[in-house]
Amino acid sequence: MSQVTRIPSTEHGINPREIDKKARTILTSLTKAGYEAYLVGGGVRDLLLGYHPKDFDIATSATPEQVKQVLPSTRIIGRRFRLAHVHFGREYFEVATFRAPHDNSDKGQVGDHGRIINDNVYGTVVEDAYRRDFSINALFYDLETGEVLDFVGGMDDLKKLQLRMIGDPVVRYREDPVRMIRAVRFAAKLNLTIEPASEAPIYELSSLLGNIAPARLFDETLKLFHGGMAVKTLELLRHYHLLEHLFPQAEKGLAEEAGEGSFTNLVYAALNNTDKRIRSGKPVTPAFLFAVMLWKQVKEGAEMYRDLGNPALQSVHLAATDAFAEQVKCISVPRRFSNMTREIWTMQGRFQFKNTRRVMGFLDHRRFRAAYDFMCLRAQAGEIMPDDCEWWTLIQEVDEQEKIAMCQASSSPKKKGKGNRTGRRNKRS
Ligand code: ATP
Ligand code: MG
Repeated sequence: MSQVTRIPSTEHGINPREIDKKARTILTSLTKAGYEAYLVGGGVRDLLLGYHPKDFDIATSATPEQVKQVLPSTRIIGRRFRLAHVHFGREYFEVATFRAPHDNSDKGQVGDHGRIINDNVYGTVVEDAYRRDFSINALFYDLETGEVLDFVGGMDDLKKLQLRMIGDPVVRYREDPVRMIRAVRFAAKLNLTIEPASEAPIYELSSLLGNIAPARLFDETLKLFHGGMAVKTLELLRHYHLLEHLFPQAEKGLAEEAGEGSFTNLVYAALNNTDKRIRSGKPVTPAFLFAVMLWKQVKEGAEMYRDLGNPALQSVHLAATDAFAEQVKCISVPRRFSNMTREIWTMQGRFQFKNTRRVMGFLDHRRFRAAYDFMCLRAQAGEIMPDDCEWWTLIQEVDEQEKIAMCQASSSPKKKGKGNRTGRRNKRS
């Protein structure tokens, strides 16, 4: 098919000790058993770019069953892609058998819109390189010789810091439209430019994301927004008209505000916050992402239901149900996350109540922290006054007696006359 360029270790500079020891064990075991086995994908790419890889994927000539024979802790998973997961306790490494391009055999299937349905056709290392997405993701590292094998010009692209789709970009995006959001993810995360021919078709093909299973898009969306570069990712997604196929309601809200408004501020404040948390190793939850992205819709929906005479809390619930019904057409959201998102929204109304009993109960609520973080972001975004954020920040820091004193001072008759501070009142003031 194509010639291979072998880059010796003296030229590429990968230090094998930077590769996880267990991944090295897998590579050595498979090669000793007579199979070809390489480190591939993000692991090689990130090491060459000087980043610490998130995971170490392995490609081999051994079938999943053969991998299991060599490494008995293997579990074989998947239908569309049959993969070997080699376990070390709870941790596992993905070992994929070389695959051929789908159209070389009648075992692969291509459906409507050129999409690949069944991709379980085994092949050679060269074929495996060509069926990968971007050239920089198709470099193979041979632990035994220390060489990087390059079949597709990935090394050149890596030097140019550019993402180039292997083969005809239009065909490849049609085969799997998720490759468009992968392009955005890598461009944002690794600070790469998308090479013009790989970039141009994205604008026109973005709507093909509508054919992707909402469950797969949930996983991809988390990778997009929890990769540490969420702000840049958002901007690129909007630039390529991709956000409207992932978060249509957020795209509409951002477009309406045209760069200036409390929803835009909220989204940016939240994503900046997520990026900071990820960089400092703090946990993040998908529930928060959905709480932010759907907030404008939910807030406006809740106002509409209130105007129709529904009680405040009920109105938020009704609006939340509407917003999720719309959202899951694109991205499915597991119930445990959507429930938490709903709680974050419905708890926003509780920050106005400052009497001791309600405050103490609220502070103990298992979702208090998430609801509080969300409320402070709303304040930061200029949607509500900063007073509540300051008050609730302070009350978490003081001792029991001071807490009671703060509540008594806030619920004294003098303060009561100030009215509540819900998003609605502030929006209109
Ligand atoms: P990271 O793990 O850092 O997010 P990655 O490139 O390793 O990035 P994975 O999803 O782990 O991404 O995939 C591993 C490799 O599998 C990729 O580098 C690429 O070679 C190949 N690959 C993944 N998804 C696709 C796809 N949709 N089309 C073609 N090849 C793909
Ligand atoms: Mg990977």
